[in-house]
Amino acid sequence: MAGEPQDDCLFCRIVAGHVPATIVRETETTIAFRDINPQAPTHVLVIPKAHYPTVAELATADPALTADILRETEAVADEDKLESYRIVFNTGPGAGQTVFHAHAHVLGGRGMQWPPG
Ligand code: IMP
Repeated sequence: MAGEPQDDCLFCRIVAGHVPATIVRETETTIAFRDINPQAPTHVLVIPKAHYPTVAELATADPALTADILRETEAVADEDKLESYRIVFNTGPGAGQTVFHAHAHVLGGRGMQWPPG
């Protein structure tokens, strides 16, 4: 069923506490943890505790939870005292999505280029 935890999902395993992660924030519906392979001084992933493969599926199924994710990206930026930061939702393998549990990357602490690579 949509939103249910998946045994073969790495981020569901982090939510369940079966895989360790450096958690920076947690709410009733979300977790934010440091990326294992940081691409910037701040690189935090904000995920819903519920399992949706992509942000598009999340947004369709649960707009309120999507808003929770966006609010938490700002809270992460505040916590790391970022004036500017980038929020990225890679969607689909061609865009670089490797973990199919919706997540926002919060990147900051260095200058950013546009367009991204
Ligand atoms: P994606 O490529 O947009 O799907 O992002 C997945 C992110 O998860 C990548 O930036 C990975 O470095 C990160 N990642 C993979 N495994 C772990 C982990 O166990 N802990 C924290 N981050 C992870």
